[in-house]
Amino acid sequence: MAKERICLITNDVETTSILNHKLKDETGEYVLRQGMPRLLDLYDQYGVKATFFYTGHIARLFPEVVRMAYDRGHEVGSHGLTHETSQAFDVLTPQQQLEHLKTSKSILEDIVGDQVVSFRAPAARVDKGFAQILQEAGFLVDSSVCPQRLDMMFSFGVAKKLHWITAPRRAYFTRADNIFRKGTSGVLEVPVSAWGFPYIGTFMRLAPGLNRLTRRVLYCETLCNGRQFVFLTHPNEFIDEPRDSEPIQRRSSNPIAYWMGDVLRHKLKVKNLGEKALPIYGRELAFFQRKGFEFITCKELYHRKTM
Ligand SMILES: [Zn+2]
Repeated sequence: MAKERICLITNDVETTSILNHKLKDETGEYVLRQGMPRLLDLYDQYGVKATFFYTGHIARLFPEVVRMAYDRGHEVGSHGLTHETSQAFDVLTPQQQLEHLKTSKSILEDIVGDQVVSFRAPAARVDKGFAQILQEAGFLVDSSVCPQRLDMMFSFGVAKKLHWITAPRRAYFTRADNIFRKGTSGVLEVPVSAWGFPYIGTFMRLAPGLNRLTRRVLYCETLCNGRQFVFLTHPNEFIDEPRDSEPIQRRSSNPIAYWMGDVLRHKLKVKNLGEKALPIYGRELAFFQRKGFEFITCKELYHRKTM
């Protein structure tokens, strides 16, 4: 029997300025006026129903950025309250995590007048016991785990991300005490696709050739076992904002760490940013359309799994 072909397009909506390497409220305005309209039009063109995860911060600044996706039939999910690294979910206490989850959920629910049940952590940083806290806050879906994604070595919170190496590849209900393992909790994990290389917008812009190879390998896997494709991108990858005059932020006093972690990483991340990213992404979506994939949201996948 032919395996099901499902693709989940997921978007993290936040005020991160990729070009200026920092969080910036003005970037949120570019997301609202440029990034979101460009993506929403592209999604209409390819018949995509997507999931948008918002930080509470951008939702409070620009409620319209939430409404515009919801009104066009997409799912609204939470991306926590803030993208500040000092307040990542694997740094906060369980009580603080619960508060952040509940507050971000109610900000979004007040804007759209509908229930918000899906979540992705900023920078995909969560602890083992996170499923229990999510459930307590009323969430049904998490999409923070990226199994077998090896570029995590260059990202924040790498110690916790080592769990990604052995995490299941297909969507699974997690254990209550371990989000990286299959179990019987009420939380469905929708893991972001990866095959060593991540299947995300940044990598698609940076290395289109290697990204095509990654997609081909993942496609073979889908043909073989029906694994869902889960792509992760950000509306702030599709904006053309001005560059600040000051040099990029220095997060380390060690010159090698500064060069590797800040300068090099930044140089790579700005490739094909803005309008240039649109045709590249269009080709990505056209592939799924051609191959007869169905685009569904995280919430829809949850309902299919529980029917
Ligand atoms: Zn994010």
